[in-house]
Amino acid sequence: MKKVKDVMAEDVVTADHAMPAATAAKLMLEEGIGCLVVMKENKIAGIVTDRDLLTCVTEKHNMQECSIANHMSSPVVTVPPDTLLLNLAKVMAARQIKRVPVSQGGGLLGIISFSDIADDMDGQVADMWSEWLELIAVTKTSAQHRRGRRTDKQIESRVRAPAHIHP
Ligand SMILES: [Zn+2]
Repeated sequence: MKKVKDVMAEDVVTADHAMPAATAAKLMLEEGIGCLVVMKENKIAGIVTDRDLLTCVTEKHNMQECSIANHMSSPVVTVPPDTLLLNLAKVMAARQIKRVPVSQGGGLLGIISFSDIADDMDGQVADMWSEWLELIAVTKTSAQHRRGRRTDKQIESRVRAPAHIHP
């Protein structure tokens, strides 16, 4: 069974936490990547994706001045290089995260993504992975149903309220 260090990408693009969002967006474009590992004083502070930076636009911030620290996911889950891929897959599935920086003793060694793991899986593990994904899909669907029902009830009670006031 392979370990994280066997399939991780070793060249990680990092950015200082004070980097403006506009600079980070440009860096992602130039590097052809969708995320940056955010560093603060040589430690991993978080992870910022292209989607995270979109909120800088939708919230009408000044992208030249707003730092990526305002939009990063933090704290970030990191994984030691000797972790078994299957164990990481379980954590990623449970927490619904797609990318995890690889770290030991606080230093950044690489980054591993959902697709790095999926690409490397043999049939048996891939089956297990698809079961995990189905499980997530089922959980999400039922959560949405629950939310939907709650909303319906709220609307019903709002509609009924005047009837109670004027019986
Ligand atoms: Zn912003």
